[in-house]
Amino acid sequence: MNTERSSARALAAVFSGHGLPFRLEEFPIPAPGPREILVEITCSTICGSDLHTWHGRRQEPTPCVLGHEIVGRIVAFGPGAPRMDLRGDPLREGDRITWTLAASCGECFFCTRGLPQKCEHLFKYGHSAISPGREFSGGFAECCVLTAGTGIIRLPDDLSDAMAAPANCAVSTVAAAIRLAGNLEGSTVAVLGCGVLGLTACAMARQAGAAEVIACDLDADRRSSAESFGAGQFARPDHLKSLSRELTHGRGCDVILEFSGSNAAVAGGIEVLRTGGTAVIAGTTTPCGPIDLDPNDLVRRMLTLRGLHNYGPDDLVTAVDFLIQARHRFPFHDLCGDSFRLEGIDAAFESSTARAGLRTAVMP
Ligand SMILES: [Zn+2]
Ligand SMILES: [Zn+2]
Repeated sequence: MNTERSSARALAAVFSGHGLPFRLEEFPIPAPGPREILVEITCSTICGSDLHTWHGRRQEPTPCVLGHEIVGRIVAFGPGAPRMDLRGDPLREGDRITWTLAASCGECFFCTRGLPQKCEHLFKYGHSAISPGREFSGGFAECCVLTAGTGIIRLPDDLSDAMAAPANCAVSTVAAAIRLAGNLEGSTVAVLGCGVLGLTACAMARQAGAAEVIACDLDADRRSSAESFGAGQFARPDHLKSLSRELTHGRGCDVILEFSGSNAAVAGGIEVLRTGGTAVIAGTTTPCGPIDLDPNDLVRRMLTLRGLHNYGPDDLVTAVDFLIQARHRFPFHDLCGDSFRLEGIDAAFESSTARAGLRTAVMP
């Protein structure tokens, strides 16, 4: 937070709707309420979902402060705020942290059934309209108020802000997908779609012991960038079936991890599964129509199809641990794009649009 201005106020980039420039506004810094934590933001990265909103492809309540991939330092604890992170490590003022993209109540029907991301009282950072006194609810601002039910994790100093910020979105979602897929030791895994999620999935599947990782994408450049992220085989969608058979004595893949969001990819992925195989489908986040699926095929091939949306707090721990362990094995730093000050946020969104596949950072 800028010391040249009144220390009691901080900046936020307010989004008012598609086609309108961000408005930088100063608001009073709130004292954290019960079970809340005030954080000074050091970095937020622009996610594909922020871009969807900015381009008008997705509607969010406005005015709002976008951004949910956030790193910051703890400034103050409200009464009863958690003093431990998701690992059980103590939290103190000044600690550098990131946190779950959503806060959940822990007590409702879905929270008590292992689906905190579907909490009946879910709050998502960067997704709600601001109101007086509740402006600091997203990443593109100088500070953020963490609400009760947020899963927090302390970050080691040697994990950079730009690399750590996407941990709470892309990397955690992939961690959840791999959790749903089960033990990957010795398995053949096909990753469908080689954007940031797919590249991360190649690396995480390899780190989890997959014997072979097939990167599948329409785009040749995206396929080849998967090589440094652990993929050993590469296929266009129309070649996936023959390659899978060739690699598995005709049986097919043990697991497919779907991040492309394409109907054809989902259908093609299910087709290449071996008997008893598992598909985790996470890419289709907007309605895109039905696919052909003969239930007899499910029955006879004993397939498991799992849908995944977002993730739970434990997946954030897995994601951060993975980045700490694997950041020298796989070039995650290559996924960091340009960085901009908060004043340059419109240019940051333009840069992020032009350089899809890289995470553009906004550092207040
Ligand atoms: Zn995100
Ligand atoms: Zn709940």
